Amino acid sequence: MEIKIVTVSPEKMKPKPVDESKLGFGKIFTDHIFTVKYHDERGWYDPLIEPYRSLSLEPTALCLHYGQEIFEGMKAYRGSNNDIFLFRPMENIKRMNTSAERLCMPRIDPQLFLEALKKLVFIEKDWVPRSKGASLYIRPVMIATEAALGLHHSSEYLFFIVVGPVGAYYPQGFSPTNIYVVEEYVRAVRGGIGYCKAGGNYAASLLASKQAIEKGYTQVLWLDAIERKYVEEVGTSNIFFLIGDELITPPLTGSILPGVTRDSIIQMAKSWGVPVSERLISIDEVLEASARGTLKEVFASGTAAIVSPVGQIVYRGKTIVVNEGRIGKLTEELYNEILQIQYGEKDDPFGWRIKVTG
Ligand SMILES: *Cc1c(COP(=O)(O)O)cnc(C)c1O
Repeated sequence: MEIKIVTVSPEKMKPKPVDESKLGFGKIFTDHIFTVKYHDERGWYDPLIEPYRSLSLEPTALCLHYGQEIFEGMKAYRGSNNDIFLFRPMENIKRMNTSAERLCMPRIDPQLFLEALKKLVFIEKDWVPRSKGASLYIRPVMIATEAALGLHHSSEYLFFIVVGPVGAYYPQGFSPTNIYVVEEYVRAVRGGIGYCKAGGNYAASLLASKQAIEKGYTQVLWLDAIERKYVEEVGTSNIFFLIGDELITPPLTGSILPGVTRDSIIQMAKSWGVPVSERLISIDEVLEASARGTLKEVFASGTAAIVSPVGQIVYRGKTIVVNEGRIGKLTEELYNEILQIQYGEKDDPFGWRIKVTG
């Protein structure tokens, strides 16, 4: 399928942000949007890059009622010689299709998806920030568009991609977070949709985050929904613990989002000879390790920040201070290595980088 391209006329182009230190996250979008439609009888049709616009939906569009909505989050990075790179985009494409299957939505052809990403990013290449740490955020989304109120999986869908410049996550350097272990609420349960990037998961998480932030914490640490004992994720990021020499992250049991950053960290740490375990880790084990002095580092992982050091964990009124509230050595090494691969400043031993050439 050929992607049709209708570019915005020069006089309608938006002004590009001048001060990249003020970009923030998700506030500015570029001049174009990619869209492709789906109908049960036609499959995907009319792939199009067109001037950025709002969407028009029937008030009865199924996505607005029963939550058939999935998305992805990834970035494009500008290297020092002005090359533009994507980081492991096929992983996001695969994950979007995994989410689609679970929510009875149609798979999207990986080649069409990749082509759309590359073409859209290439057209918007002047929007990719120049400062280190800043990037072009990419948001692919699929929604159910059939107009009907009976509960059923939609026969029509819209897939679209919007992109926009975002600032460095750590403009003033690392700031270790203070996280609250929530017991009253859960994010996802095994058998549910926790492993999908589906809007419903985030709606379910808002109240706990809001309450934690009101109490002065940066984020919540989620425990498993059944025993409320095993650590799952922190906010919308995966989590890692360095206990002794073992780097531990919870296994992908179905309630955890399989992060691309998580997988990259696992592969990279293993290649450095760090013993990595994907295993259940209870909050009690974390407390005991802290008491014994073997809890060395804790960090969250995700596309937004790469890694985000955890300085404090509060559980049932007890505060665990990690590494005296400072960023750990392994955390920092992983951060630097991944950042340098993403920006094309280092060899790419795993073949994670894709150059966008139009
Ligand atoms: C997106 C996301 C992550 C991180 O995934 P990456 O692919 O590394 O960005 C982790 N947990 C949740 C709940 C997420 O939504």
